Amino acid sequence: CSMTANEVRTRFTEYFVKNGHRRLVSANIVPQNDKSLLFTNAGMVPFKQHFLDPSGAPHKMVTTVQKCVRAGGKHNDLDQVGYTARHHTFFEMLGNFSFGAYGKREAIHMAWKFVREELQLPVERLRVTVLEGDQETYEIWRSEVGVDERRIVRRGEDDNFWSMGAEGPCGPSTEIFWDTQDMRLAESDEERWLEFWNLVFMEYERGSDGALTPLATPCVDTGMGLERMASIMQGVSSNFETNEVAAVVNWVEDEGTPAEGQGNWLALARIVADHVRASAFLIAEGVEPSNTGRGYVLRRMIRRGVRAGRQLGAAPGVLARVAPRVEAAMGAAYPELAMARQRIIAVLEAEERLFQRTLGRGLAELAEIMARKEDGLNRVISGADAYALYDTHGFPLDLTQAVARDGGWTVDVAEFERLQRAGREQSKAARAEGDSGNDAGVVPENDYDLCAGFAPGTVAEAHSVHD
Ligand code: ATP
Ligand code: MG
Ligand code: MG
Ligand code: MG
Repeated sequence: CSMTANEVRTRFTEYFVKNGHRRLVSANIVPQNDKSLLFTNAGMVPFKQHFLDPSGAPHKMVTTVQKCVRAGGKHNDLDQVGYTARHHTFFEMLGNFSFGAYGKREAIHMAWKFVREELQLPVERLRVTVLEGDQETYEIWRSEVGVDERRIVRRGEDDNFWSMGAEGPCGPSTEIFWDTQDMRLAESDEERWLEFWNLVFMEYERGSDGALTPLATPCVDTGMGLERMASIMQGVSSNFETNEVAAVVNWVEDEGTPAEGQGNWLALARIVADHVRASAFLIAEGVEPSNTGRGYVLRRMIRRGVRAGRQLGAAPGVLARVAPRVEAAMGAAYPELAMARQRIIAVLEAEERLFQRTLGRGLAELAEIMARKEDGLNRVISGADAYALYDTHGFPLDLTQAVARDGGWTVDVAEFERLQRAGREQSKAARAEGDSGNDAGVVPENDYDLCAGFAPGTVAEAHSVHD
């Protein structure tokens, strides 16, 4: 039975409400009162305090559909987008939470019942993972739930110990996977087996020094990717083909045929759709492109989207033309999209225009750099070249890396960062002397430096904000 994304939302939350949970609305993507975090990257983020102290939780059992962004900090899927079937920068996480009400046993039983009885997923296509050494969880799956032990896989901490970020609540997890049976991908386990639900047993708090302290009351935090579950229920082979996402990816149909000979056109079309989706939600919450922190992540996404659209031969202004598709697909579930309609368009247009002027020259320069060095075996773009692109043409490092990667090149990131630090010091010193920060005395042809909100010397912070 096929299910729309919206039916998946409803089925999930209704199931947990039926099981005693309180349904709460999604918190903002921009975390409130949490400087340790760039964006809400999981359903548990708004409840961080309740895991640390459940006695203060107004409801002990909660279910949500949470807006998430993973485009910076500890959880950063920006480079995956377009190249895997399952990663977005913006996605929705369905979750159920227990703040001391129930533990891992009940959580596992409830999850399995939802998957098997509500969604009717056949057991032959399911597999679960547990943390190596977590015998209790293994036994719940094997002897209580009755899962064949050939379907239970033990994995290390990289996969089955979940942390929100460098600090905060964390603990062992158990995850549920779906066999996509896609034999084109059979050599890659990771692509064939789709992870769709993570059940985390919050048992520790990691301090700023990295040490683990056991929590007085163990809690439960689960997260299921809405788009991934929709892909399973709709029988499609990628998140991008599910109804609400596909409606955005289909922008290419309005723009005529994608550039001829563009082997990766589908990835590019998906990148544009993904980045417009994420940008629309961030702008709706008041984020604006800037050179630091959250604003810089937004700027990077928009600029990457502009570049991908241009590669497909789309006319200028493409991001603003794609944005209404996001509202059309998701506006009913997220009224903030309609409320911010004008601002979303205006910000996308302004940022694209700002970048459009230097993008062409920057790309041409980058192509020249690669052509000049093509004779050598060493396909590395120097830090100096990457820094010049950044400084003169407003190319975020990750954009240069993305372009480089397409041609099989890498970038000397260490040298780039050294130069960036030096540039920062220089402009700080120049500011102290009271001039414009440009000691050559020339007007920079650099849109990046001229844009509103530019704070010289703060760009590097965007890379050091950890979540
Ligand atoms: P993956 O290994 O596929 O990158 P993950 O282990 O990083 O996923 P979790 O941190 O366990 O993901 O998040 C819980 C659930 O959220 C995942 O099981 C998945 O269904 C969903 N999810 C995570 N990252 C993304 C993403 N970038 N896009 C869409 N859904 C995601
Ligand atoms: Mg991941
Ligand atoms: Mg994983
Ligand atoms: Mg996971």
